[in-house]
Amino acid sequence: MNFIKKITIFLLFISTLNSSILHYKKYELTGKQKGNTLLVIGGIHGNEPGGYFAPSILILHYKILKGNLIVVPNLNFDSDIRNQRGIYKDMNRKFARISKTDPDYKIVTDIKKLILSKDVDLILNLHDGHGFYRKKWENVIFNPKAWGQAFIIDQKNIKTPKYFNLGEICKNITKKINNDIFSKKHIFRVKNTKTKFHDEQMKLSLTYFAITHNKPALAIETSKNITKLRTKVYYQLLAIEEFMNIMGIKFKRDFELNENNIARILSDYKSLTINKRFKIDLNRVKPFVNFVPLKRNGNKFTFTHPLGAVIKYKNFYQAMIGNKKIFKFKSENFDLSPTKPNIIFLIDGKKRDVSNEYNVNIKNSFKILPIKNVRVNVIGFSLIGYKDESNIEISLSKIQKKYSLYKDKNVFRIEFYDNKNRYIKTILAEFQ
Ligand SMILES: [Zn+2]
Repeated sequence: MNFIKKITIFLLFISTLNSSILHYKKYELTGKQKGNTLLVIGGIHGNEPGGYFAPSILILHYKILKGNLIVVPNLNFDSDIRNQRGIYKDMNRKFARISKTDPDYKIVTDIKKLILSKDVDLILNLHDGHGFYRKKWENVIFNPKAWGQAFIIDQKNIKTPKYFNLGEICKNITKKINNDIFSKKHIFRVKNTKTKFHDEQMKLSLTYFAITHNKPALAIETSKNITKLRTKVYYQLLAIEEFMNIMGIKFKRDFELNENNIARILSDYKSLTINKRFKIDLNRVKPFVNFVPLKRNGNKFTFTHPLGAVIKYKNFYQAMIGNKKIFKFKSENFDLSPTKPNIIFLIDGKKRDVSNEYNVNIKNSFKILPIKNVRVNVIGFSLIGYKDESNIEISLSKIQKKYSLYKDKNVFRIEFYDNKNRYIKTILAEFQ
């Protein structure tokens, strides 16, 4: 290896160290009728879950009829899934200047471009802030230095044709949403940080970057002192909807906005598909799963929930939805097989092609018809002398229940391998 090559490899190594692991995701909800565009940014601070679960609900449960909603639910994704404010330090202090070697460099540069794109009319940056903002000092929780339950503006007016009067807009919104709050403590107020004159720290923030580039922007802060996530998310959604109303963005949601419904939605973790070969229902999976067939590197984890991610530790993996730990798993390494065999099951005596399925329902028993050059492994079942478990009628009583993938049901993994011991796929057999 020559010297130049060595240097390149060294630089590559450094550059991977110097960048975040996960980038944010961007979702565009576009109405059939043209109109204004609202950009909602969540998750800039990883320990403020109201700020990222609320936008995930916008993505999953709202439909835009007129205008546009762009949602970035997880700006600081590495920190969100670790429930830390900023694992590479405070991202919201990197908008005035940022070093190219900063791990957040790409994220901050990309979101700045999105903020400045000409289609974006207004930007909301979502937080859960400390305490409850009050104009006068009452105590350590209720005081002028607190951030919670407030719209944070850097100044009352900015020079731009649309939505220039941030102070007035926010004041009007507080009047509306304060009719729908649960407790007097939770009353929303407008906090003007007068950043230009008073606040050196806020000059480094996302909203100050936006307004100094003539883009209307502000932060919505619910309170860290409100303990229930559902309540914080309710307030975020209440406020965001009011901004959409002011902007003439028409929307529909598939649930009535109240805490119970939000709690139900928050507890739906949806599914994870691994390398397009194994699909797991995250609402039912056991807390720990062993021997998940994975490649050594470069596995593709696809979540239906916008806040889904897998954190790789030294000898296990942890699946997350935002800051919630869903399940832990250990892998067994295989190469992936390029073959896609026809897989036929006899389910309760009836033949069925399940080649393209991830799971099958079974009443009494199943038998997998033998496939040339394919080995079948039913996890939890074994018969002495058989390596391939096709062509054997298997009923629930023949499988050890402790191997069920899910907590609530009798659901077992059936794995398929080719003749080079490369992994083909997993089908789940669910006994009804
Ligand atoms: Zn924050």
